[in-house]
Amino acid sequence: MKSINPYNLSVIREYEPMSWAQVDDLLHKGANAWETWKFSSWTLRSHHMKKAAAILRERKHALADLMMEEMGKRRKDGIGEIEKCAWVCDYYAENAESFLRKEEIESDASQSFVAFRPLGVVLAVMPWNFPFWQVFRFLAPALMAGNAAVLKHASNVTGCALAIQDIISSAGFPRNLFSTLIVPSSDVADIIEHPVIKAVTLTGSTPAGRSVAESAGRAIKKSVLELGGSDPYVILKDAPLEETVESCVTSRLINAGQSCIAAKRFIVHADIYDEFLDRMKSKMSEVSMGDPADDHTGIGPMARIDLRDELHKQVKDSIKAGAVCIQGGDIPDLPGAFYPPTILADVIPGMPAFDEELFGPVAAVIRAESEEEAFDLANQTIFGLGAAVFTSDINHGREIAEKYLDAGCCFVNDFVKSDPRLPFGGIKTSGYGRELSSFGIREFVNIKTVYVK
Ligand code: NAP
Repeated sequence: MKSINPYNLSVIREYEPMSWAQVDDLLHKGANAWETWKFSSWTLRSHHMKKAAAILRERKHALADLMMEEMGKRRKDGIGEIEKCAWVCDYYAENAESFLRKEEIESDASQSFVAFRPLGVVLAVMPWNFPFWQVFRFLAPALMAGNAAVLKHASNVTGCALAIQDIISSAGFPRNLFSTLIVPSSDVADIIEHPVIKAVTLTGSTPAGRSVAESAGRAIKKSVLELGGSDPYVILKDAPLEETVESCVTSRLINAGQSCIAAKRFIVHADIYDEFLDRMKSKMSEVSMGDPADDHTGIGPMARIDLRDELHKQVKDSIKAGAVCIQGGDIPDLPGAFYPPTILADVIPGMPAFDEELFGPVAAVIRAESEEEAFDLANQTIFGLGAAVFTSDINHGREIAEKYLDAGCCFVNDFVKSDPRLPFGGIKTSGYGRELSSFGIREFVNIKTVYVK
């Protein structure tokens, strides 16, 4: 398994995948560590989790550099990502106990209550795009709930996976309570089937989610899936255009466009369509492409050449089907996995830019003749992760977000972002289950009824 720097295509390191005997050994060690951890106190769990947060903060520059090398993230974004990981560790260190407090329920019993007990070893299959954040937003609540965990990280970010293991062990968590498994995705089905594994979570593409859900279903094990998205941003005719375009462009270009909750389809009311496009073009054309180490760089390279080429094919096929490329759309003459900020206008259903996820810096702009048509177009997708609406009428925006857009989270006048305090997850083929907040920590627990006659 190779880590390749997408900025200059140099091989950083190659890793030998673990044998099944090594995997089996780590799984059993995780189960043994869990036997003690499941009875540990809140104070002890919080102590280690706070320590993990402190280590993340101490190491943030080195960890940001590691992400930059393995998947091309801009250094300054990497620092922000590590700070967010520290936040989620602190958040669960401080709140896990209250989220999982026993709930007394009146019944015919002399006493009946619900206790939230850990499940055991949970497998996490994670993507490369936010190599630390995706892991910590699962791991902090899972460990605080009293579970053990093993990580199968994306094959191109093994260095990040090993760095996470080192953070957890340096924070003083019991040995083997958390392990990184260096394995290809073809081993995942067997790991899910392993008797030690009690549940699985996957953040990644919809095809990977389908395959993990099949294995988990066969083994009757709980699964949570955080999958792809094609988030629609509905721009109404009374939207404050300057701020709206700023939010839209920021969201589309986050992480060189490689974010599940990046804005992907911009559905703009016909009355302001041309002005929106002009403003978007002028903002996007200011964004420079270059070295992710340079603070002035607008976007760095994408994570891998094959992903960049796949995106370019979607762009070309959309243009063939009638989309109008008004900016970008060509592979630049640079050695790395670069793709320029690109705008496709006049996108309609049936084009890849409308029907599929564009996992890179390409905006698909769609015209709607009315509000109703805008909602129909927004919901005309197999995905349902995030959505946003932009309008000057906050009450109207609130109502649209609550009732008319089919997605796991809907934002009004802002771009969609995750926050430890708010539940996060999708509907339709964007997955099921929730992460973060009190909802996330209850995914991997036994909601246990206790009845005393
Ligand atoms: P990916 O190819 O699906 O990979 C994600 C993880 O799943 C990797 O560890 C990968 O291992 C593994 N995997 C791939 N195919 C598998 C299979 N058939 N069975 C079991 N495991 C499998 O996705 P990616 O390219 O890393 O990430 C991009 C996708 O993730 C996008 O669709 C994005 O929207 C989605 N995503 C969703 C969220 C969310 O919260 N909803 C967040 C971030 C990203 P290998 O690397 O070894 O193949």
